[in-house]
Formats: sequence, structure tokens, C-alpha cells
Amino acid sequence: MTSCCSENTDSSSAPKTHRCPVDGELYSRVPMTTILHHIHQPWMWHAKPQGYYFCSNPHCDVVYFGEDNSVLTKSSLRTKVGVKDNHPNSLICYCFGVSRAESKSQDIKAFVVRSTREKKCACTARNPSGRCCLKDFR
Ligand SMILES: [Zn+2]
Repeated sequence: MTSCCSENTDSSSAPKTHRCPVDGELYSRVPMTTILHHIHQPWMWHAKPQGYYFCSNPHCDVVYFGEDNSVLTKSSLRTKVGVKDNHPNSLICYCFGVSRAESKSQDIKAFVVRSTREKKCACTARNPSGRCCLKDFR
């Protein structure tokens, strides 16, 4: 089990970043497991042995993309991606159910920081970005 909120320890040689084929920006790799936890009908998804990446641009419809430039868009996901829409009720922290509005509270942030430090989070599985949500807090 990889430890939460640390760098992806996936040993594959795929590049750590890749450009989203739609918005052209560089994004970081996401573990394949994370994708399996968020897409509809993961048994129908034919993953290739390559790097997969998470596009965090709120204006881009792509959520995941592969080194081969294949894409999975918002409609392929069963999880609503909070960083991709500006609604106050959108989730920012998936481990503890913190919305964008709630993420502005210093007390709630302190709770998430503490809980994360105590390894009570599960970002790799719960956050569609596969990473710790703290960078998305104000
Ligand atoms: Zn994109």
C-alpha cells in the first residue's frame, strides 16, 4: 500500500507529466488505480500499460488522459470532480467530504491537515486527482 499524500510510487517508466491533448497544458501522472475508482464501468475500460494523467483545468472537459492521448472526459466519471467546477457545494476534500465553501474555514483546514498528518486520509482512492486535496484549499 502506498502512503497517502506522498509521490506516486508507481515504478513504471512513464513520464511524470504529459500534455492534455485538449488544452495543451502539462499535468501530473495519476495512478491507474485512482482512475478505476472513479470511472463508470471500469470493467469496460481498456487500460494500456502507459502513463495516465489528470487534467485539473476547470475549463477542460478532459479528466484523465493517456500517453497515447486517449481521453476520459467528465461524463466518463461517476465522481463529480470538484476542482473542475466552481460550485460552492463541490467537493474539494473527498476523504472528509469538505466542500469548496467549507474549505475556506481555517478550522476545517486544520482538521484536514491534522488528519492527513495522522494518515487518516485516502486520497489515492477517493480524490479523482489521486493526490492530497490540501493544495486545493485556499
Ligand atoms: Zn485538459
